[in-house]
Amino acid sequence: RAKEQGKNNYQFFAPVLSSDWVQWLTLENDLRKALERKEFKIYYQPQISIRTGRVIGLEALIRWHHPEKGLISPAQFIPLAEETGLIVPIGEWVLWEACRQNREWQDAGYAKMRIAVNTSARQFQQGNLAQTVQNVLRETGLDPRWLELELTESAAMHQAENVIDILQQIKKLGVSISIDDFGTGYSSLNYLKRFPVDFLKIDQTFVHDINQDSDDAVIVNAMIAVAHSLNLKVVAEGVETQEQLDFLKQRRCDVVQGYFFSKPVPGEEIESMLKSMKSKKGTHV
Ligand code: C2E
Ligand code: MG
Ligand code: MG
Ligand code: MG
Repeated sequence: RAKEQGKNNYQFFAPVLSSDWVQWLTLENDLRKALERKEFKIYYQPQISIRTGRVIGLEALIRWHHPEKGLISPAQFIPLAEETGLIVPIGEWVLWEACRQNREWQDAGYAKMRIAVNTSARQFQQGNLAQTVQNVLRETGLDPRWLELELTESAAMHQAENVIDILQQIKKLGVSISIDDFGTGYSSLNYLKRFPVDFLKIDQTFVHDINQDSDDAVIVNAMIAVAHSLNLKVVAEGVETQEQLDFLKQRRCDVVQGYFFSKPVPGEEIESMLKSMKSKKGTHV
């Protein structure tokens, strides 16, 4: 089960001693209260168009400021949130807050960019995701074209027919869709064609050794070619060096994201970036 759901998952908690169990149950309890106690915060990571060198998007990444444990990374609590179903209200909050924030920046007159929000498989199985997205867009007043939903390749392939159905409804609203962590799952190209998606995000594990490992280089090349032949744009995750960027540029990758440009940062820092872009009339980060 854990294996099927990917490496950052429940298996983290699996080989437990009893004290770990207590810790885990405590964490679950805390997680239940975290939303109402306003302990979550969204960090944003810029996405840069290779062609223009400009920031065209921001990925919303959740952080949990635990009152005693400090900052807890999503890799540690998202799996727990998924297991317990808490990801449904948490995911809705992220969606709402990211859209609200983006609209606020647009109202302030900054360069418009898409906000990318991560979703979990559970959100496609439970509740009515398309309706939720529609409500959030209406309530926040964000134009759908400035919202993008990310779902991982594994989540997309889990009850794929149901996912395709919901994605089609969301797509009709005018929202963009991307497949996250591409290459780590097991989607067949045939299936991929049936998903109404706009972007493939190449997982950072492939990007990491792109300049050293010829297998990774070949794989990334192939992924870009497949994506383009299906009319999808390609986002490379985890770009940390100039050499990686050069490789991706040469292979006609469309968008890059990674520490080379910026780590995920709080909204206040994004606002400073937007301000300086405004005064420099939209130059690079
Ligand atoms: P992801 O969606 O694939 O996000 C990319 C992760 O890579 C982020 O980790 C980001 O901080 C990290 N990253 C970005 N650039 C670099 C780089 O150059 N080098 C390295 N080593 N890492 C880089 P983060 O923020 O810890 O999030 C981990 C995962 O947690 C995300 O992976 C996503 O699957 C999940 N997640 C985060 N926020 C949410 C959320 O609101 N909802 C859901 N369902 N999942 C979320
Ligand atoms: Mg993502
Ligand atoms: Mg990813
Ligand atoms: Mg990931």
